[in-house]
Amino acid sequence: AKEHGKSSVSVYDTARQAASLEVMALQNELQRAIDGGELVLHFQPTIDLASRTVTGFEALVRWQHPERGLVGPAEFIPMAERSGLVVPLGSWVLREACRAAVTMGEGDDAPSMGVNVSSQQLVRPGFVEEVARVLRESGLRSQRLVLEVTESVLLDDFEAAERALNGLRAIGVSIAIDDFGTGYSSLSYLSQLPVDILKVDKSFIDRVCAEDHSASVTLAILEMSRSLRLQTVAEGVETLEQAAWLEERACGRGQGFLWSRPVPLADARALLLRPLED
Ligand code: C2E
Ligand code: CA
Ligand code: CA
Ligand code: CA
Repeated sequence: AKEHGKSSVSVYDTARQAASLEVMALQNELQRAIDGGELVLHFQPTIDLASRTVTGFEALVRWQHPERGLVGPAEFIPMAERSGLVVPLGSWVLREACRAAVTMGEGDDAPSMGVNVSSQQLVRPGFVEEVARVLRESGLRSQRLVLEVTESVLLDDFEAAERALNGLRAIGVSIAIDDFGTGYSSLSYLSQLPVDILKVDKSFIDRVCAEDHSASVTLAILEMSRSLRLQTVAEGVETLEQAAWLEERACGRGQGFLWSRPVPLADARALLLRPLED
């Protein structure tokens, strides 16, 4: 293997150079997309399981790429996080989502709007002030905004995250823990932080009717949620069987393809006007 070492290193270097050039080109393209209006939001409803009505939406970003068509976030969010572009991208998403929410109604029963926030955004000085300003400029009541963070945010820099979450609570914004159950979940941090909603990760919901392990994890999360007086949203509900299982166990809300995929704003608004078919 030793005599092949040199040539394999240079092959590796060439590949790595090509890869980093590709990454740089992609970063430039994404920066242009943010500035040039190539990003779009789709909205997926969350459903009250007892009444089967829409309680809110989650804003999910897509990239309307001139050559590649509609590109999903899995293909550019990781790179945006590595390059720091997730900060300007996140600012754009927050502003657009709040503007969209205002067009969905304004009364007491108007739907909530969930926005995904990456840890870089959350712990940056000035984030709470940015959220307050976007709410003011859009005219959205703070009670309607839900910021979704993953558990890993809390591992990265717990104190900065805690400070930001407390600041957000103080201005009336709700906090959801996204993909709950997949990361470092601890009762002590949950009771310590101003969290309002747990979103149970899709991987458990997928097998909730088929496998004891997923069912027990989901039950444990529902129990914990109840004792901490949090709301629970089951993510990735695809079948009526899953919806019934969750409703029987008093899970408050669900989100998933059973009711709707993420859709453009006009279609999301239409969902508010007619009863859901499921
Ligand atoms: P997430 O926050 O967990 O969002 C839920 C994802 O699950 C969405 O994928 C949604 O389309 C998908 N989903 C919902 N219900 C179902 C279902 O019943 N079946 C299946 N198979 N999938 C379902 P999407 O839109 O591709 O987003 C993927 C991830 O990208 C999101 O996961 C989130 O982590 C990230 N993301 C999306 N928008 C943003 C954003 O604006 N900012 C940041 N930082 N991340 C974002
Ligand atoms: Ca989310
Ligand atoms: Ca999630
Ligand atoms: Ca996820």
